[in-house]
Amino acid sequence: MATLALEVLGSGGAVRTPRPGHHDLVDEGARLHGVPWQRTGPSVFVHGPNVLIDTSEDIYFQLERSQVKQIDAGFYSHWHPDHTAGRRVWETMNADFLNQPAHPRTTPIYLPPNVRHSFAERGLAEHFAFLAARQWVTLHDFDGPLELAGWRITAHELYEAYVYAFLFEEIAPAAGGKPRRALICMDELFGWVPPAALCGVDLAYIPMGIPEFHPLTGERLVAADHVVWQAEASYVDSLAIAERLQAGKLIFGHIEGPFGLTPDQLAEMAENLQRERGWDVTFAYDTLMVELGA
Ligand SMILES: [Zn+2]
Repeated sequence: MATLALEVLGSGGAVRTPRPGHHDLVDEGARLHGVPWQRTGPSVFVHGPNVLIDTSEDIYFQLERSQVKQIDAGFYSHWHPDHTAGRRVWETMNADFLNQPAHPRTTPIYLPPNVRHSFAERGLAEHFAFLAARQWVTLHDFDGPLELAGWRITAHELYEAYVYAFLFEEIAPAAGGKPRRALICMDELFGWVPPAALCGVDLAYIPMGIPEFHPLTGERLVAADHVVWQAEASYVDSLAIAERLQAGKLIFGHIEGPFGLTPDQLAEMAENLQRERGWDVTFAYDTLMVELGA
């Protein structure tokens, strides 16, 4: 049977925790205790198909700390710097610094159509062309299903068309069983209504969204007229998306430091959701490993 496990390399968002130059409760908690307070940038690894999704600027440290043994493919969900700034890792891991001619390792990188397009528009394409010219990566269009280690993987454009979710579907389910499915959304759910075909997955990883109000105290956290609301999903939006997805197991990631939510508060939020909505839900922390059940 094909196996799949999601390892959260980094549960943070655009603002890691601790945040240099800041001394809020969560910053100091992270300095004092490390994980689960500490949150590095948004990257995840899918064991089984062995896919690295996004390379945050913390990726070197994340891979060193991880259970990752081998990377068979790299995906990018979108061009945003918090998801791509660690892209030099492909050079560090794959270059042959000793031999001439060089015998580098090569990792295939799959770019959904609009990701490739925004890489070209935003200046990232040059760097990836440099990596490809030295054979540290090969670049592939991710415009159809990809099969890896018993999983059929597809990229799904979200409402914000520059960003994609990735669906992993078991190719050969156990006799009489339904194919198991995992959906991974790294960020940017603004305006998205999950299509019926993605609902009812066994596992979903989605960003928690921006809490306009503190989910436990109701205190306003983000100004009502903040520019962020023009293009970012709120925590309430993420809950509505999760309600529609009806995933067997739900993991919230991309947890930004400035909201100030502590591990205990997030655990209480998960308990409340479990009680009120019946969800099997966890707020991610760095190093979290979630296996897709049989
Ligand atoms: Zn992000």
